[in-house]
Amino acid sequence: MSTSNSLHPQNAAPLVNKLAEQAMEDASRAFAFTTRLDDIVAWGSKNSLWPMPYGTACCGIELMSVMGPKYDLARFGAEVVRFSPRQADLLLVAGTITEKMAPILVHIYEQMLDPKYVISMGACASSGGFYRAYHVLQGIHQVVPVDIYVPGCPPTPEAVLDGIMSLQRMIGEHTPRPWKENWKRPSFIKPA
Ligand code: SF4
Repeated sequence: MSTSNSLHPQNAAPLVNKLAEQAMEDASRAFAFTTRLDDIVAWGSKNSLWPMPYGTACCGIELMSVMGPKYDLARFGAEVVRFSPRQADLLLVAGTITEKMAPILVHIYEQMLDPKYVISMGACASSGGFYRAYHVLQGIHQVVPVDIYVPGCPPTPEAVLDGIMSLQRMIGEHTPRPWKENWKRPSFIKPA
């Protein structure tokens, strides 16, 4: 009686191994993924920004609505507002900044955790707005490194959300930030 070669145990073993390997690969794809450490850290970071709101004027009121249930900043993982810079990594400047406030803003920025980010919300924070006066800082970039500018007077909540999403993209794509890397405390601001 003759036996088919394909049914011989010696020939079946590699086939069984290959099937087992394939099954393991399929199973691992169902619950595992591969990535780089930098990418997974950036993913966590961009989806768990802890903002420190520095609201000084009308933009601050507009910012409140971004946190509220209608616009719901929680959808972007950034609703955990902190009023201590040591527990925040996103400085959200919303409103007019006077020259007198500038040292305080710098002090807060320096106390924040690294990596840290800055969003300038509205015309006043970004350029002094219509206050072209001796006592108003003509843009917070003069004292802190700004990552995102949100235009408007005041910016709409949608514009603020767009700013947050732009920042998330920057973090996720590891966008170089020379303005932050080269930042030094301005010489005209005295140490606290
Ligand atoms: S940009 Fe306009 S809304 Fe915002 S603080 Fe200045 S004046 Fe107020």
